[in-house]
Amino acid sequence: MHFQRLRLAGFKSFVDPTEFRIEPGLTGIVGPNGCGKSNLLEALRWVMGANSAKAMRAGGMDDVIFAGASNRPSRNHAEVSLTIDNSARRAPPAFNDHPVIEVVRRIDRGAGSTYRINGREVRAKDVQLLFADASTGASSPALVRQGQISELIAAKPQNRRLILEEAAGVSGLHSRRHEAELRLRAAETNLTRLDDVARELE
Ligand code: ATP
Repeated sequence: MHFQRLRLAGFKSFVDPTEFRIEPGLTGIVGPNGCGKSNLLEALRWVMGANSAKAMRAGGMDDVIFAGASNRPSRNHAEVSLTIDNSARRAPPAFNDHPVIEVVRRIDRGAGSTYRINGREVRAKDVQLLFADASTGASSPALVRQGQISELIAAKPQNRRLILEEAAGVSGLHSRRHEAELRLRAAETNLTRLDDVARELE
């Protein structure tokens, strides 16, 4: 899947609508200290479903909304949209009819996040699975933040294994297995309930 465009509005320091075109190949972000390089990477993680405020260097999720500056009032919502080129059909098969996929996450102060894929409202889980099935996502090792290489060298073997699983593309399968197990458990509970009802009727 090729990320084509990232649009931000009201996200951290990007208060005005800002658009970045992402060309094929390696992308580097350069600029003076504090200009918002890390905020950009965080916007990418956030739109892919990151749900830890700590990973966003924020106290709470609302902190990703522009907090105001000396000459600008704060905002009450933030939106990030990621456009993916799927002309090579690298996205999961469910998206084969979509040559372009647009994922949008919006947060309203005090009201949490909503997600849309190609205009249709979906759950955070759906967005996370779309990226996990394509072997990427908010915790993808392809997004390297400051200090991450030294953390990797010092990491415990179990944590390094998670990174290898992500790179091998099996982490999407883990999430799907977990979802299937939850559904199975709910079905078992329903069956037990039905048995009780049937016994009462006998
Ligand atoms: P460095 O090179 O020092 O790592 P950087 O280019 O990665 O810097 P960021 O850390 O992405 O810069 O951006 C920091 C800037 O973003 C700071 O000026 C900070 O005030 C601003 N910022 C972060 N969160 C918000 C917010 N919610 N509202 C407004 N501005 C914010």
